[in-house]
Amino acid sequence: MKKENFLGLSERVVELGKQAEQYLTPYFSRIDEIADYNTQKVLAAFRAHRVSDTMFAGTTGYGYDDHGRDTLEEIYADLFGTEAGLVRLGFVNGTHALSCALFGALEPGDVMLSVTSAPYDTLLNTVTGDCPGSMKRYGIGYRQVDLKDGRLDLEAIEKAAAADDVKMVFLQRSRGYAVRQTLSCAEIGEACAVVRRVNPNAVIMVDNCYGEFTEELEPTRVGADMCAGSLIKNPGGGLALTGGYIVGRKDLVERAAYRLTAPGIGGECGCTMGQNRLLYQGLFLAPHVTAQAIKTAVFCAKVMQLLGFTVDPAPEAPRYDIIQTIAFGAPDPLRRFCEGIQAGAPVDSFVTPEPWAMPGYDDPVIMAAGAFVQGASIELSADAPMREPYVCYMQGGLTYPSGKAGILLAAEKLIQSGLCK
Ligand SMILES: *Cc1c(COP(=O)(O)O)cnc(C)c1O
Repeated sequence: MKKENFLGLSERVVELGKQAEQYLTPYFSRIDEIADYNTQKVLAAFRAHRVSDTMFAGTTGYGYDDHGRDTLEEIYADLFGTEAGLVRLGFVNGTHALSCALFGALEPGDVMLSVTSAPYDTLLNTVTGDCPGSMKRYGIGYRQVDLKDGRLDLEAIEKAAAADDVKMVFLQRSRGYAVRQTLSCAEIGEACAVVRRVNPNAVIMVDNCYGEFTEELEPTRVGADMCAGSLIKNPGGGLALTGGYIVGRKDLVERAAYRLTAPGIGGECGCTMGQNRLLYQGLFLAPHVTAQAIKTAVFCAKVMQLLGFTVDPAPEAPRYDIIQTIAFGAPDPLRRFCEGIQAGAPVDSFVTPEPWAMPGYDDPVIMAAGAFVQGASIELSADAPMREPYVCYMQGGLTYPSGKAGILLAAEKLIQSGLCK
């Protein structure tokens, strides 16, 4: 059979892809192993909780006695090794879930200590912002310990965490959109042990966005009291239409639920309007989909490295989130790369991404994304501020073959325009 070249890839790019893939075989098998382990973990939890069709029906109105919702929360708690879980469509995004967790755990006069430099941009408004309702405006203090050469500074953490007024120590697992290393659960565990020694009562909380199912462990299995994240990233498996989750100690999850709804009501209310099936099915797929996204990131790293660009993490490095950075060093190759990613998207493949002014950014930002769920970064996407050193953040890919196609189209654009080795 004569095979068709559906995407019009040149021979050179096809060869480049084959070369990268061959080289990556041993690294891919490690990713598959983690997906196997986490898939079995999810299946076991579904079995233990006797998941059945009746749980998918959902509720309306107040949402009392939503058996599907409550069981899903128990399943999340099992997967993360915690006492309780709160998995809700009412969380509008990851920032909202994190914000409820923070406001639940802290009271006026308490201090939150972030030990991974400043929290994620959007969360920073909640913590130190001047807008009405911020933690700062409620008299909740904030201090931080900066990362040292991109890693946890355990000595400085030990000193800072010992202060009496520190009621929470906060860590961000993923690099997010910063130049730093992503933390492994082993590293998070070390930090937890240090904090426990000097301040046994401090709540240890982890921003787990982008980290779920990338390892066999989660932060709450290595000493964290709670963690939170978004359902339109890893744990929603690409199917969740919105939502977020919090897992952790029972009292902390309950306090966070009081913030999400109202004190005294908490998690008792919150209808699911027929969405439970997608949250279950998404969670079932999540270990696999996360592995697909990581393979896409690793493939991207190798291909872009072969084309002469600097990538981080390296293709060979273990992964603790789904983000890949590529330093293009100039605006033109960055634009070509984003055009290729956009061309490989299943939705809006025909549009050309243009750098544009974005609220909160000093420089124009270019974004490539064509997702089934608006803004879902578990789907193939790339974005970058248009400034030196023109670093692009690439993440997602619901299936490795489609993620790979996007990367190959990006390579094609770079080669055609003569902007690479
Ligand atoms: C995505 C993300 C968040 C939350 O962002 P939302 O857009 O509000 O979902 C928080 N922290 C990190 C590290 C993230 O990657």
